[in-house]
Amino acid sequence: MGSITLQKVSKVFGEAKVIPSIDLDIRDGEFVVFVGPSGCGKSTLLRLIAGLEDVSGGKIVIDGKDATEKAPSERGLAMVFQSYALYPHMSVRNNIAFPLKMAGMDKAEIDRKVTDAARVLNLGDYLDRKPRQLSGGQRQRVAIGRAIVRQPSAFLFDEPLSNLDAALRVNMRIEISELHQQLKTTMVYVTHDQVEAMTMADKIVVLNRGNIEQVGSPLELYRSPRNLFVAGFIGSPK
Ligand code: ADP
Ligand code: MG
Repeated sequence: MGSITLQKVSKVFGEAKVIPSIDLDIRDGEFVVFVGPSGCGKSTLLRLIAGLEDVSGGKIVIDGKDATEKAPSERGLAMVFQSYALYPHMSVRNNIAFPLKMAGMDKAEIDRKVTDAARVLNLGDYLDRKPRQLSGGQRQRVAIGRAIVRQPSAFLFDEPLSNLDAALRVNMRIEISELHQQLKTTMVYVTHDQVEAMTMADKIVVLNRGNIEQVGSPLELYRSPRNLFVAGFIGSPK
């Protein structure tokens, strides 16, 4: 569970070929970071994997099955949005439970899953609060909790920390890495922040104008950047 393969995946918006053609293998349990400058197609690629956008060409295989035509809810993935996507009028408990209620799960099972997620995320004492009564980091944990209860085969994050202040970003970076070690679930994480990429990733995918410039571990990219773009972006000495 948790492998994702892209085969010649492309995306065109009107006249703009935003993703010309991408081949990529994401293995089960990997923490993969898509990094690159603003507008290079990171969010588009993630949305194609999630099924929030249709591909213009190519194939997406999830857990060995062709998922290209599947609806987002049938792909077994969970997208984590920025914390402001929480429902302000609902308690933490109900925010986390929401996707399960929508799926028609029974109340006892929902309660059990919410309690489990709250324990993993250290939110046990905050279940009856509203989002506005939480810190930015706690809110982000609630957003992650909403994904965890669905037990996805992979988590997709799109710049989840970009609206947090610098100190909190460092904390959350560590928390998400620890969560990955604990759950061992595939995570695909989009950021334009080189430090996040270098510190969190098992595998970094460097994107530039919708193309993959290089794929490798942080150390590989640092030691042997393939070109000046990668060197400049990763901040390595080439
Ligand atoms: P990133 O997340 O790396 O900043 P995006 O994937 O959001 O980049 O965008 C890549 C390119 O695709 C940009 O030029 C953006 O303007 C364009 N784009 C994204 N979504 C749409 C859309 N729905 N319609 C038209 N153009 C889009
Ligand atoms: Mg983006």
